[in-house]
Amino acid sequence: MILFCSEYLVLANYFDTSIEFLKGVGPQRAALLQKELKIHTFGDLIQHYPFRYEDRTRFYSIKEVNETMPHVQIKGKILRFEMMGGGRKKRLVAYFEDETGELELVWFQGINWTLDKIKPGIEYVVFGKPNRYGRTISIAHPEIEPVTNTSEKKGFLQPVYPLSEKLRNKYLDNRFLIKIEKDLLAVALPHVRETLPDYLRKKLKLISKSEALQHIHFPQSHEWLTQSQNRLKFEELFFIQLRLIKMKLVRQEKFKGLVFNDTSILTRFYDEHLPFPLTEAQKKVIREIYQDMKSGKQMNRLLQGDVGSGKTIVAFICMLLVIGSDAQAALMAPTEILAQQHYNNLKKYADMMDISISLLTGSTKKKARNELHYRLQTGELKILIGTHALIEDEVKFNRLGLAVIDEQHRFGVAQRSKLWQKNKEAYPHVLVMTATPIPRTLAMTLYGDLEISVIDELPKGRKPIKTTHQYDSHRLQINEFIRQQIKSGRQIYIVYPLIEESEKLDLKHLMDGYESIVRAFPDVPVSILHGKMKPEAKDFEMDRFVRGETKIMVATTVIEVGVDVPNASVMIIESAERFGLSQLHQLRGRVGRGAEQSYCILVTDYKLSAESKIRLGTMVKTNNGFEIAETDLKLRGPGDLMGTQQSGALDLLIADLGKDAAVLKVARETAIRILENDPELAKPEHKVVKQQIESLKKTAVNWSRIS
Ligand code: ADP
Ligand code: MG
Repeated sequence: MILFCSEYLVLANYFDTSIEFLKGVGPQRAALLQKELKIHTFGDLIQHYPFRYEDRTRFYSIKEVNETMPHVQIKGKILRFEMMGGGRKKRLVAYFEDETGELELVWFQGINWTLDKIKPGIEYVVFGKPNRYGRTISIAHPEIEPVTNTSEKKGFLQPVYPLSEKLRNKYLDNRFLIKIEKDLLAVALPHVRETLPDYLRKKLKLISKSEALQHIHFPQSHEWLTQSQNRLKFEELFFIQLRLIKMKLVRQEKFKGLVFNDTSILTRFYDEHLPFPLTEAQKKVIREIYQDMKSGKQMNRLLQGDVGSGKTIVAFICMLLVIGSDAQAALMAPTEILAQQHYNNLKKYADMMDISISLLTGSTKKKARNELHYRLQTGELKILIGTHALIEDEVKFNRLGLAVIDEQHRFGVAQRSKLWQKNKEAYPHVLVMTATPIPRTLAMTLYGDLEISVIDELPKGRKPIKTTHQYDSHRLQINEFIRQQIKSGRQIYIVYPLIEESEKLDLKHLMDGYESIVRAFPDVPVSILHGKMKPEAKDFEMDRFVRGETKIMVATTVIEVGVDVPNASVMIIESAERFGLSQLHQLRGRVGRGAEQSYCILVTDYKLSAESKIRLGTMVKTNNGFEIAETDLKLRGPGDLMGTQQSGALDLLIADLGKDAAVLKVARETAIRILENDPELAKPEHKVVKQQIESLKKTAVNWSRIS
């Protein structure tokens, strides 16, 4: 029975009831459940889904049972009991048989209780882990119940819930969770509200919410379990997509887009100056962007393309479209070095076309800055490249038509929108470029409010980077290889891991590594770069390496993002097993930018976990960033993949972005179709959807969690 104080009766939502008021819980256990599993309310508990199920749908015959099986369920009768051994070895043995054979059930504890409750000659269902002693198979402390109620005769899938050690120590174990989930379902199921319209459930063949909740905890069969999982996964992904697509539609409706459809300058560039034929993927993406820019709606597009796939020229071509219609373009990069590099690259193209272009960073001098501000305001300056200095208030454009943002993850959303507001007439089109390939499912969830374009092809004639895995013990051969490469004019990166938890030790490894390199190559100038250095010192060292004054760069992952040194052809990654797959790929992307054959050497010691082996193997096998990202997603899950700052959006209760691509696709398409036909969800059949959105909004800032 549930205790209801009057104040709980007036709760708008039954599922906001504190878990404390569930039968058999009470304040102390409630506190533990809150602390250990973040279960505060009935709603939290009903959504605390099992992470696996013990299969008790099938019965084994004793003849089949052997000690390699994890758990078995058998049906039979006890012939007799016998007490064996003495002292600490004292135990109760029951001889248990079915038509096919005999095995032993063993109890070391609770002997009296067992003798009292369990009787020979009655048919029992026994469940447990089989072991072998000599020729005898035995099961210690089995679960044992008489074959009475019909559902257990048929067998069932027993839920196994996520738990913590602390809970287990306080006897809040799986059995306890099963009990309270059962108790909760018994009282709560009538209160479960359907959240999906009937017509949709019919069409997609989804079972009801209340059936799904019941069978996700206590599935009657494998079939019911699958149905429940499908239903709940769909619902979870559907409401996320609904929110993202709604955001997108609102933006499109509120913000009219500048119309850019004059292609005359662009055509001149194509005809006279295009330095190489564009890849099919580049052409496709340019077409997508052009469609957006002439549509009258504001563009918000994410452009993904692996390192070296040629995003820069795509950005430039889009800028031409804007300039052709008398507007301006800006490109914002996360660091000065990157801004400088973009400026150098784009200036080559801009000069060919006689288009004015400037660079603005923190170190731009006051006088140059003032002049630049003036030219920007008159509209004489067409392209501005820079760091976040671009978003400062005194930077005013005449007519900003396109904002390109490189390496998205470094900028927050707030910064992005500051750039938008630089045009009073209408928000400029926004193109976010990233070289971090993100699996489609993840992109649809994290950037589901943006349009997504992908350059999935490298320019022809690139030499793929050769990647090998080497053990520490081959140091001499590795050094010999470095010597050879330097002799033929190349430069080398050597990267060490540095993470906060082991910062001191990591820094020492880096320094030791640096010293041994200096010792091994006394006549070669070597740079060193790590996060603890002052920004000026970092820039200075990076500059020396970029200019080719130093031949070897010993560094931590600070070099990960974007820096382009075409002459660097070897990337050596030390303790490679400590890097994530996507990070390894990012690092490898620092080489392979020039005409020469490039190499990546992953160095580890002999001891490697199974997962490390998969990571290293994947790196050796493929250069395809999307393939690597998919594997990474499957290995680590989305939260770890994207870092903690974004994991909130990825805290999924049941759907798995590594596995549920098909469900996600349907959820997204469904959300789009519904919002296109009924943008305000005003139709009666969508009332349940609207209600659920409101309720999700409320739980997002649930008062019970603010403590
Ligand atoms: P990223 O996508 O990493 O920013 P870039 O735009 O810097 O890549 O391009 C990498 C290199 O490839 C540059 O030197 C660029 O000039 C060259 N490039 C880009 N597109 C093509 C193409 N279609 N054919 C040949 N080379 C290309
Ligand atoms: Mg680039």
